Amino acid sequence: MITYKRIFVGSRCNNSCLYCNEKNRSRDPELSDIVAQMAHNGGLDSVELYGGELTLRRDLFSILDAARNQGFKRIKIVTNARALADINAAVKTVESGCYFFEVKVHHYQPGIHDYVTQVSGSLQQTVEGIRNLRRIDTLYQTPFSAFIGLRISISRQNYKDIGNVGLAFIPYKIDRIILSFDDSELEMSKALPHIHDAVNLCTLNRVWILTQRIPLCVMMGLEHHVSEIYHEPDGDYKKSKNCKKCFYDEVCPGMSTRYLDNFGFSELKPISESRHIEDIRSLCNEQD
Ligand code: SF4
Repeated sequence: MITYKRIFVGSRCNNSCLYCNEKNRSRDPELSDIVAQMAHNGGLDSVELYGGELTLRRDLFSILDAARNQGFKRIKIVTNARALADINAAVKTVESGCYFFEVKVHHYQPGIHDYVTQVSGSLQQTVEGIRNLRRIDTLYQTPFSAFIGLRISISRQNYKDIGNVGLAFIPYKIDRIILSFDDSELEMSKALPHIHDAVNLCTLNRVWILTQRIPLCVMMGLEHHVSEIYHEPDGDYKKSKNCKKCFYDEVCPGMSTRYLDNFGFSELKPISESRHIEDIRSLCNEQD
């Protein structure tokens, strides 16, 4: 499993998403702060740059150069891809050594996506950015193609339709989907049937799909799709006293604290057995 050195590159963004976890962070780091963090790579050879919107920084290409010079083999950016609607920007970003894009979307309908981002026309630009990333190799006959991950933020605005949101983007040749439970005022139990359907639908359509901030005990039968068994949890998580009785206690980080502040632990159901535990243990150990 690949572990990424995660570096925050600032909260400035051209969207203003209702459920953004990063928009209230106080100070955007200087280039020198970012480079200093890269130097402490902890032996990792992959870096994830997240914000905020990295593509808006004037020193974007200096940051990508620094990542390459520090020896990172894989550079991933988390982006809304709007700036990449300009094909020249998309090409230059890929040419600068970034091949892995995790693109944030909320819906395939502009009315809903643009409502969540609070920017009219944002979905259109995001889709154009994805199209550009996908066509760079054919247009410029590069020997590589970009890896495009889609990060769908689950919220009150889209949870009933989450499977269709995934399906709507598959024709753009998405390589992977992450369903991220970002709305801490949406009751998880209401969304779960739709999330399970979405995981099954995307798997049937041969697209690898993962979930984020959804604990293993509510994903029974689909535990292999829980991203926290592959990657370090993103944010603060907490467990209940009952988690000690759970078969998954050793491999599970628990539930996001932001969600727990609103709904408590009542949806967690300690598991008494699992036929997947050995597989999950070995996937977790591969992180090391
Ligand atoms: S009961 Fe606790 S330890 Fe078990 S899967 Fe749920 S959150 Fe994780």
